[in-house]
Amino acid sequence: MELGISYFGNRIMRHFRRDLEDIRARHFTYVVHTFSENDQVFYKQTMAEMVQATKDAGLTAWVDPWGVGRVFGGEAFSNFTGLNPDSVQVANDGIITHCACPNAPKFREFMAKWIADAKEIGGEILFWDEPHFYMPSWLGGRPGTWACTCPHCRARWDERHPGKPFPNELTEELSEAREDWLFDFLRFLTDETAKVGLPSAICLLPTSSDHPEAASNWEKAAALPNVSVIGTDPYWCFSHVHRTVEDFVRPQTEKLMKVAREHNLHAQMWLQGFKIPAGREPELQAAVDVFIENGCRDIAVWGFDSCQHISWIRPDNPEKTWATVCDALARVKDLE
Ligand SMILES: [Zn+2]
Repeated sequence: MELGISYFGNRIMRHFRRDLEDIRARHFTYVVHTFSENDQVFYKQTMAEMVQATKDAGLTAWVDPWGVGRVFGGEAFSNFTGLNPDSVQVANDGIITHCACPNAPKFREFMAKWIADAKEIGGEILFWDEPHFYMPSWLGGRPGTWACTCPHCRARWDERHPGKPFPNELTEELSEAREDWLFDFLRFLTDETAKVGLPSAICLLPTSSDHPEAASNWEKAAALPNVSVIGTDPYWCFSHVHRTVEDFVRPQTEKLMKVAREHNLHAQMWLQGFKIPAGREPELQAAVDVFIENGCRDIAVWGFDSCQHISWIRPDNPEKTWATVCDALARVKDLE
């Protein structure tokens, strides 16, 4: 006799309720719920129940377009890109990428529907996480290429520089245009979010020569009319990024806090709680100290239980990482 059963436990309510108690006991005041394209199709009502449980526990429910269109951060794939080859980014080698194009009208329509669904499941704040153009150095990228050269981007270029041919290289002018297109996409998202009566939080990728596809002129995001929170996530020892708290977390924190102050926005800093190499756990406390020293009073950690269920980003020592994160945050929880 064999008795088989399928198992995929991370959306099981009785597990979530137990984790939620743990989250509350550790003094967290809000939960950022990942709401991927997969969740949107197959787990929508489940997500609504999780969001409601979060609110019932007295915590604020944020909703995050995790990996949606592969334009946002997250360990999730996109279905949109497979279904809409006319709306994906095209690299300079003429081959399509696995990322939707922020300039494609169909992708904007898709995001408007995602926003409506995030509202429907009860989200209280929508979290625009790490918006970026195609990253050749990231999962699924082709090293040495760049995007986007799709017809939608070419049309936007023609509007911007009438009569000037679309560059064959990623020139400074094209990089500037691309960054402005990303902010234009953020404007669309935050305006749509405001239309459904919700506030927007934006988390910008840290400025880094590793990722020129990310926006570096953060003040342009901060100046958008419907943004309430601005943040960044300077993960300093992830993958090929091996920096220190002092040479990476500190300058990115200083930059974020300055932009937030100048635009009178609530500032949020993300603490790396995943993929921490063995022996470097004490740096978590050092990073929290940097956030606090710079005046930040909203620190979020990615993610619960140090993401040990995601083997791809599991820390070398998950228990020690999670305990260090929780200790570091418990020390600052009552600061005004
Ligand atoms: Zn494009």
